[in-house]
Amino acid sequence: MSKSLLVLGGSGSLGSEIVRFFKSNGWKTISVDFRKSDIAEISLTITSSNEDQMKSIENELTSQNIKVDALVCAAGGWTGGDSNSDGYLDSVKKMIDMNLYSAFGAAFLGAKLLKPNGLIVLTGSLASIKPTSFMIAYGATKAATHHIVKSLAQPDSGLPANSTAVCILPQTLDTPANRSAMAGANFNDWTPLTEVAEKLYEWSEKVDTRPTSGSLIGFETKNKSTTWAPICLFK
Ligand code: NAD
Repeated sequence: MSKSLLVLGGSGSLGSEIVRFFKSNGWKTISVDFRKSDIAEISLTITSSNEDQMKSIENELTSQNIKVDALVCAAGGWTGGDSNSDGYLDSVKKMIDMNLYSAFGAAFLGAKLLKPNGLIVLTGSLASIKPTSFMIAYGATKAATHHIVKSLAQPDSGLPANSTAVCILPQTLDTPANRSAMAGANFNDWTPLTEVAEKLYEWSEKVDTRPTSGSLIGFETKNKSTTWAPICLFK
């Protein structure tokens, strides 16, 4: 029987590449996003990752007897601005909805739908391990995502037995949106999406390659070479 992957944010740049990569390796793929996925076998659209809609996703997949081996939250978004910017509090709400509510929603779906020994991966941000005054809402919601993963790794977190929770912390991903927003940048220093999909696939397939549960794994690319390393917040 094929293994199953659920990607929250499966229609985004990173999410759709993860769906594509796992599908091409024989996994059944499920995307949950604000937008329909043309790649995933099952595409469920939502308008919020709130209680009602996450429960309806749980009910829909449970009615089809679907449990997943891996669950990735590739949902999120970015808004810049400091605490004196125009629209600052609106940007806070937007970042909470996109980055934080999605991470909490993924944790909810993980608790309900992951198989024992499953993998849940949330997406934080390397920039957010330090103060981010110029993008304060983005940084704060991503730092909270790092905290959620640490909490999910505790034995009483609600995840099924022997789950592994990992947070990946990208620096800059090589996405179409970044290419159009930063056309003059050095793309050799951005991480190709396939490299991220490959790493998540390795962790999903081979339990012994997974980082310790609760790990924050940062990665950055220099001259087309990507380095992955655990991030220690407290020494
Ligand atoms: P993207 O904007 O291309 O895709 C994000 C997807 O998430 C979109 O399809 C959107 O509809 C969906 N989404 C947003 N909020 C959601 C919610 N609450 N529930 C379900 N779906 C939701 O983003 P990307 O560039 O592919 O980035 C992927 C992840 O990596 C995000 O978490 C992002 O914050 C993070 N990240 C990206 C970069 C980068 O350089 N692009 C850098 C650091 C971190």
